[in-house]
Amino acid sequence: MSVPPGEGPHVRTFLGAYVLGALSGAEDRRVAAHLQYCDTCGAEYLDMAEAPSLLALFTEEDLLEGLAAPPHAPDGRRAGESTGDGPAETDED
Ligand SMILES: [Zn+2]
Repeated sequence: MSVPPGEGPHVRTFLGAYVLGALSGAEDRRVAAHLQYCDTCGAEYLDMAEAPSLLALFTEEDLLEGLAAPPHAPDGRRAGESTGDGPAETDED
């Protein structure tokens, strides 16, 4: 197996998945080992690691609400809201 030129032995392409914990055990260990001695990938990793931690500041509810109610909703209608007149949550079955 040969390493593509420009890529080298670095693990930059894996860092995104590594940060998200999406790598398999072997890949995860490989990236972790590489980060021990590679400043280049280490810096990149620290950069990427900030994104999920920023996302973690929002609750899932905040994110869903942000998607469901865009600031410039057309027609004054709010997306995700029932078009009926009654309360949206009825448990009648
Ligand atoms: Zn590297």
